[in-house]
Amino acid sequence: MIQISNLKKAFGDHVVLKDISMQIGKGSVVAMIGPSGSGKSTLLRCLNLLTVPDRGSVRIGERHFEFDGKTSKLPKDRELAGFRARTGMVFQHFNLFPHMTALENVMEGMLTVLRTPKAEARSKAQALLQKVGLEDRAEIYPQRLSGGQKQRVAIARALAMQPDVMLFDEATSALDPELVGEVLNVIRSLAKDGMTMILVTHEIAFAREVADQVIFMRDGVVVEAGPPSQVIDAPQQAATQAFLARFN
Ligand code: ATP
Ligand code: MG
Repeated sequence: MIQISNLKKAFGDHVVLKDISMQIGKGSVVAMIGPSGSGKSTLLRCLNLLTVPDRGSVRIGERHFEFDGKTSKLPKDRELAGFRARTGMVFQHFNLFPHMTALENVMEGMLTVLRTPKAEARSKAQALLQKVGLEDRAEIYPQRLSGGQKQRVAIARALAMQPDVMLFDEATSALDPELVGEVLNVIRSLAKDGMTMILVTHEIAFAREVADQVIFMRDGVVVEAGPPSQVIDAPQQAATQAFLARFN
């Protein structure tokens, strides 16, 4: 289970997250939507402490961190690494290691962080590449992969760490339209497997299809949250209605 309580974050005078609380059950899929600058990426980054919250607390499973404004410093290195390893993050840009093949990219975290023996890491990486439909691209370097293929390698690489939750920050926004579907298919199959996921997305139809819960954020506040049938199909708040009208 993931719990965010009273999270606050400012950059200088600019308050970007204003008292955010939410609870995400194991196996649920949450879609986070909202206008540019509303704080979606900051919230995802606070979840794996890529960004350090000012106040509030973050819990993932058994691990729990509180931030009180005075000592808003990071937990100790080892605790932090352990916590980060519980989340698999996939960004808009793929951030693959350019000097490694697809297979080596997927193996890397298993070898260096999990200390998995090489032969085992290799066979797990092969299975993960198969899962994302890229078993025939194992020996290819990122430069020769399409955007959709790179993003699928990035997903396989994140899955290799056996995270409790996958965080996707606009994972399809940088892709050519014809490549979006293959990445959404992978996310769809993860949802079927029961993976807990938080997706920041502009793919409203996809959010409606896969999400158990949709969260609409604006100006650092959760304006509206609930099942897609409520937030997407019958939004109550004027701000949500105005935002969704752009997609119709
Ligand atoms: P988008 O849809 O454009 O990705 P977002 O909802 O993800 O937007 P964030 O990236 O979380 O929004 O940014 C929220 C606000 O915080 C923005 O005004 C942004 O300029 C500001 N911000 C984010 N990161 C930093 C930073 N490291 N330093 C200063 N300001 C930041
Ligand atoms: Mg963002």
